[in-house]
Amino acid sequence: MGTIRDIWRVNLKDCIFCNLEQSRVERENNFALSFKDLYPVTEGHSLFIPKRHVQSFFDLEKNEKEAIFELLEIEREALMEKDNLITGFNIGINDGSDAGQTVMHCHVHLIPRRKGDMDDPRGGVRGVIPEKQSY
Ligand code: AMP
Ligand code: ZN
Repeated sequence: MGTIRDIWRVNLKDCIFCNLEQSRVERENNFALSFKDLYPVTEGHSLFIPKRHVQSFFDLEKNEKEAIFELLEIEREALMEKDNLITGFNIGINDGSDAGQTVMHCHVHLIPRRKGDMDDPRGGVRGVIPEKQSY
């Protein structure tokens, strides 16, 4: 049994996002950074994380949330400028393993969407329970 500090150190050492190579970082400010998702849902899919290791969005400090939102807005602008086929976005957080979180360092997905990228996109994030996507 370690102290909370020891446990935090172990988390940092084992966390793939804490150990991301600096060369993969695309955007950065004081408290957050972003990088391309290694297995993108659509072209341009990025992840936005606090620099501090926390598991849940609800563990973030106000300044960390603001830092993440700032990078999200900058990335959205850049994507739309670069690719005029982008007509929408899914912005998502899987918070907890029962909600689908697989990397236990809080992250926000920004998934650009283009008309026709799937047959019927209606319902979007409702698709976390596939049979409930459409209503
Ligand atoms: P989640 O299921 O919400 O925890 O999302 C984890 C995301 O991390 C997935 O979209 C993965 O494609 C992505 N991912 C996993 N490993 C890496 C990695 N080494 N670098 C960048 N993205 C990753
Ligand atoms: Zn981490």
